[in-house]
Amino acid sequence: MKSATINELIIKVSEYNIKSLKKVLKAYEYANDHHKGQLRQSGEPYIIHPLTVCYILAQLHADEDTLCAALLHDTLEDTDSTYEEIEELFGHDVAVLVDGVTKISKMNFTTKEEEISANARKIITSITTDIRIIIIKLADRLHNMNTLEFKKPHKQKENAIETMEIFVPIAYQIGAYRIKGELEDLSLRYIDPYSYESIKEELEKVKEDTEDCINEVTYKITKILSDTNIPNEIKVRTKNIYGVYKRKMQGHRTYDIHDLLSLKIMVDEIDDCYRLLRPIHQTYKPINDKFKDYICNPKTNMYQSLHTTVFGPDSRLVQMQIRTFEMDKIASFGITTYWDLCKENAKYMMQQQVENNFQFYRPLKEINKAYKNDYDFLNQAKKELLSEKIYVYTATGEVVELPVGSTVIDLAYKIGKDLGDKLVAVKVNDKVESLNYKLKNKDRVIIITDKYQTGPKQEWINIVETTEAKEKIKRLINM
Ligand code: MN
Repeated sequence: MKSATINELIIKVSEYNIKSLKKVLKAYEYANDHHKGQLRQSGEPYIIHPLTVCYILAQLHADEDTLCAALLHDTLEDTDSTYEEIEELFGHDVAVLVDGVTKISKMNFTTKEEEISANARKIITSITTDIRIIIIKLADRLHNMNTLEFKKPHKQKENAIETMEIFVPIAYQIGAYRIKGELEDLSLRYIDPYSYESIKEELEKVKEDTEDCINEVTYKITKILSDTNIPNEIKVRTKNIYGVYKRKMQGHRTYDIHDLLSLKIMVDEIDDCYRLLRPIHQTYKPINDKFKDYICNPKTNMYQSLHTTVFGPDSRLVQMQIRTFEMDKIASFGITTYWDLCKENAKYMMQQQVENNFQFYRPLKEINKAYKNDYDFLNQAKKELLSEKIYVYTATGEVVELPVGSTVIDLAYKIGKDLGDKLVAVKVNDKVESLNYKLKNKDRVIIITDKYQTGPKQEWINIVETTEAKEKIKRLINM
């Protein structure tokens, strides 16, 4: 990653939001003054860092306050600047954002562990204050990970692990796949340098080997699509290095093209996504049970697309992803796409989206309330929010996200308090199961309630996995 200059930033901001330029320049002057004389470990002037973080966000078309906060993001921590001064000069929102990304003062802690937990808690819970804090933090981390080579080896590994444990899952939750992918690869480089290099080479080789096949498919699909008169764009998408590493870890030894790359077909209208399926499936036969409709049933992080895996040339399998240009933008940038979609309203719309539609929001609030100790909070958040999830279907086909190990009771309380309290029986994939049944990916769950049921049973406390369920049961049986 190249570091940005103030001229590049000015050009970038002028491209989409020229009326913010004045305030952004004022923030730059302020940060430049305050960081004067400070150097990064690379030996460059410190201002390069906030400047590049701001530039990353300008590429996402961030709003004025976010850009200013990005430039100022290290002033509270590393200079004699104060919250009050920033608030007076740049307004309340900018001050809140800068404060949100600032680490808690070292003087408040006696141990390193305490400090780490408290700061991680601050980052994770900032989602409930203003989602833009976490987006600035992600851009900050992206630049820091890109310049990790200048740090000491033990620091490199420490940062890489923290990135994988906290920032990568958060990037996934808000649908920012591009940032997530970059952070994963940068981290792997330091966590397992040998695998990183060997997979990188392997990927290059596969790309060479499959070039003919992909070219043929692309050519044919382009031709088919031009007959339909539906304007479109086709791109080849390669899996990131970490994506391949993860498959290896799961025990997959060999790969086919569809594991490593896919063909992305983008159109303007949703209807056209479906319209293209027939000519594509007529040319290349689909594997029927690999077809996925994430348009009508999106992923919990807003991701939408049609996925189909077809028998390509030389009996090689090729995955195709068909989506609109807007869906593609959301697939790359997640919630940050609102900066483009709603302009003036973006701040409000983003927070609304997080609070109403993202399934991690309520559990996060529950965990934050239930665990007073920072260390316990972090452990629970890692377990429930930042680890692998399972996804199950409700009776009406809604997809519900839960931590691995969750039971039917957890699901009932996640869907609605009443459902949990009145729960008496359950059918999973058309079969009656006991209430302590541990849910698996893609389970279809029908919850059976009885309105005369008087409330949860005390022993449920020991069965449930999620804090939300545990707390709701506790409140009801007055523990
Ligand atoms: Mn920073």
